[in-house]
Amino acid sequence: MERILRINMTDRTATFEDVPKKYKERAGRWLTSSIVHDEVPATCHPLGPNNKLVFSPGIVTGTSSPTSSRISVGGKSPLTGGIKEANAGTGWARRLANLGIRAIVVEGQATEGFWLVKITCEGATFEPADAWTGEKLSAVYPTVFDKHDGVETVDICSIGVAGEHKMPAAGICFNDQNGRPSRYAGRGGLGAVMGSKGLKFIVIDSKGGPGVAPANKDVFDGGRKKMAAALTEHAITKPEGALNSYGTAVLVNIINEVGGLPTNNFRYGRFDGAAKIAGEAIFEGNKERTGSTLYNHACSPGCIIRCSNTWHREDGTEHTSCIEYESAWALGANCGIDNLDHVAELNQLCNEYGLDTIEIGGTIAVAMEGGVAEFGDGERAIELLHEIGQGTPLGRILGAGAAVTGKTLGVHRVPHVKGQNMPAYEPRAIKGIGMTYAISTMGADHTSGYTIAPEILGVSGKLDPLNPDKAELTRNFQYATAFIDTTGHCLFIAFAILDIASGFEGMIEECNGMLGTSWTADDVGRIGKEILDMELDFNRRAGFTPADDRLPEFMTYEKLPPHDVTWDIPDSELDKVFGSPS
Ligand code: SF4
Repeated sequence: MERILRINMTDRTATFEDVPKKYKERAGRWLTSSIVHDEVPATCHPLGPNNKLVFSPGIVTGTSSPTSSRISVGGKSPLTGGIKEANAGTGWARRLANLGIRAIVVEGQATEGFWLVKITCEGATFEPADAWTGEKLSAVYPTVFDKHDGVETVDICSIGVAGEHKMPAAGICFNDQNGRPSRYAGRGGLGAVMGSKGLKFIVIDSKGGPGVAPANKDVFDGGRKKMAAALTEHAITKPEGALNSYGTAVLVNIINEVGGLPTNNFRYGRFDGAAKIAGEAIFEGNKERTGSTLYNHACSPGCIIRCSNTWHREDGTEHTSCIEYESAWALGANCGIDNLDHVAELNQLCNEYGLDTIEIGGTIAVAMEGGVAEFGDGERAIELLHEIGQGTPLGRILGAGAAVTGKTLGVHRVPHVKGQNMPAYEPRAIKGIGMTYAISTMGADHTSGYTIAPEILGVSGKLDPLNPDKAELTRNFQYATAFIDTTGHCLFIAFAILDIASGFEGMIEECNGMLGTSWTADDVGRIGKEILDMELDFNRRAGFTPADDRLPEFMTYEKLPPHDVTWDIPDSELDKVFGSPS
């Protein structure tokens, strides 16, 4: 990976430049956050010409390292107003790495229309994309593939109508290995940033690219083997293990059992209908409807965990892929919906319109709280999704996310931090993840520091979820996560590498093999801290203060059943986690 490609949407030019010396070792989130920190004015409007959209594959993306085809996307978020990194697993990341492109930086704004940018080993070309706007993505992708020699030759990055309308709940969509428009860098509204630039598609054909070669093949291969061994051994990540059998939705019953499954807009910690929307129900339902035992598939080339499911209709035809835990929860339990076909349709509509399922599930739940629908009414929720897709006045409000919807409808119970709706873990019942939500640079985001691993799953030890003493835990998890997001590995490798020491060593050795570095375990924390420090600095310059690192007030006085607990971690404890600005 040698070059940075700058795409200027104002004058539709594309130029390559060398990777600056100071970014020599940076890729993935480390590089996207570096470029956003160094080049984007922190106070700029996220949808204005001064924001930039940055794509970067990870350090080992494009190699034979398992489960490493992630693409990081960065920019200033229209949802939070702060820095954002969201990532997705897709062959698109692999193709970018194989072209020798360390990052794409999209700048400026088109003065009219939407555009498709095609990147090949010869450079980048622009073509009008207006003919593909206003449509569902499942209708659009096949024609784009057809025009560019098919799914064997190219991968596609795009926005849906939500991004075209610059809605803050819009994500950036990538195709999976079967060409489905279904893998999202979903959070934070980066789809709206892409839409604001007039960029509808980036199509990549990596034929003739230089490929990716490690600086030290032996070191890299040694690390890769250790990583693969750890992933195939651990109970959560191994073949026919928890994720391969039931997908991430295997968590529905587990989190419900501990009283931490947010239900009816975070009013309860348990959902009576949890078992009906859980990973086990998806597995059994598919078996009943298709007559076969379907194990899950890999969203991207080289993944050996293979956690992505597919849900089928009663007649056995495919309905949607993939129903993640977060989506089953957001569009199910959080809206009181226990009908898996309704959840599947909501999930599919998010894929069609280009929306973040977490933000939209949270938004519908807030709208239900505001009287727009009844909790549990799946058919009405589907109508609301269509309002977003059609861009009606109500749909535009909903597409702006939960916080805006709550303000519009006079709802004070909006479970967000920095404008981003909370994911699928109740912070009152699981304190460490609550601390992550509060102080993450990303707004409420479980993937910033997944303390659920030790608090609930017994990975890397077992901690009491109700114990509030989690400052060190969330800090260390946030640093380690920033590093994993830099490697290009899917975050789900964390289960194996936290429990199996050789897997953790393998991750570092892979990076050393690629870069020719001599990193040790200490460098994981050092680099993670460097990334977080940059992101914190950007957010401070954007106007954030410690007062933004708080959970919503209602959680401090409203007791959450079944444990009847409130959010009781003092502000001073939150402020201590990252300390004063350096
Ligand atoms: S573990 Fe799941 S989400 Fe991660 S890369 Fe593999 S299939 Fe995709």
